[in-house]
Amino acid sequence: MNSPAKDVVALLQQLIRIPSPNPPGDCRAIAEFCTAFLRDAGFTTTLVSPDSRAWSVVGTLGSADMPSLLYHAHIDTVPLGQNARWSVDPFAGVVADGHVYGLGSIDDKAPLAAMLLAAATIGAQVERMQGRLVVVCAAEEEVGGRLGTRWLVEQGYVPPCDFVVVGEQTGNRVATAHKGVLRAAFHVAGRTAHATDPWRGRNAINGMAHLILDLERYQTEVLERRPHPLLGPASINVGVIEGGVSANVVADACTIRVDRRTVPGEEPQTVMAELQTIVARRQALDPERSYSVGDFLVSNWFQAEADGDLLLRFLSISAAATGTSASPVGYLPGSDAKHLVGVARQGIIVFGPGTYQVAHSTDEFVDIADLATTYHILRQFAEEMLLA
Ligand SMILES: [Zn+2]
Repeated sequence: MNSPAKDVVALLQQLIRIPSPNPPGDCRAIAEFCTAFLRDAGFTTTLVSPDSRAWSVVGTLGSADMPSLLYHAHIDTVPLGQNARWSVDPFAGVVADGHVYGLGSIDDKAPLAAMLLAAATIGAQVERMQGRLVVVCAAEEEVGGRLGTRWLVEQGYVPPCDFVVVGEQTGNRVATAHKGVLRAAFHVAGRTAHATDPWRGRNAINGMAHLILDLERYQTEVLERRPHPLLGPASINVGVIEGGVSANVVADACTIRVDRRTVPGEEPQTVMAELQTIVARRQALDPERSYSVGDFLVSNWFQAEADGDLLLRFLSISAAATGTSASPVGYLPGSDAKHLVGVARQGIIVFGPGTYQVAHSTDEFVDIADLATTYHILRQFAEEMLLA
């Protein structure tokens, strides 16, 4: 290997060849690989897990507290789809047409490879180093990070750092915000009857149909009228509906499960109250059925300060390398950034090659030129910040 692009592709291929789908979430092998790589680069490493699967690695180079930089990428991937028909082996790291294919190739092994290699270039120049570089290779991101990054932070494995870069798919732009999620279940209770004279009963599915239209109006008339400047409007999606037992019985129960994406500034309690208000209004219009909402599950949004010297320096390096404007963007899906806000003293961003729309899908890939650009930016930023 003689060029950085070749090196980062070769490293990415090695990472793809160590499957780490979550569920089941066994990250031991890939975490051990990252540990060995970081040790070879001169880092002190801590390989830890709260259970038998969720192994994460924290690598540290340099002992001075300031300036300090943290590179974070997750090492778990989503599982293969149930009907996935890949045109290539998803665990081979196939290179074709300027792309590297594989499960997790873009999400999140491309930023992981770029960060590891950038870290190795700093390790090779350690005699010029001032401050500290921390690399976190985290399990469990794909299921919310509770036993991954959040656990690492809570247990004190992640030291506070001046600047934090969370690797995800931002098209090599600098993202300072991502959405959150609030899951909820709505229930309608009715009354069974023989389907020959259904008006004797109260059909819960019909009641739910009205409630779903209420939620559609909530999207268009409320959420879309208050967009976030970087992320656009919040959204609500009905993902699951269940109800009824037989076509000849009036259904007495119906449940939907919804995914309400939140934008920065929306507090979970406020969103829950909005959903409860929608239910209360429908209940008032239809007293003969019983409406409720609950089973709330919250994952926070993230929003960082969009200024500060380190952020501006990262913006100008990435703008020069990509030919884009030096202004931050939003990242629509969630990330582990929400767990790292507390350890970022001056700034925190989400950054990496490609788009999340390629992630979690069949024939996932990363463009090699994009990956090389990611590596170039991460390396240059680390060198400017940490080398004397
Ligand atoms: Zn990811």
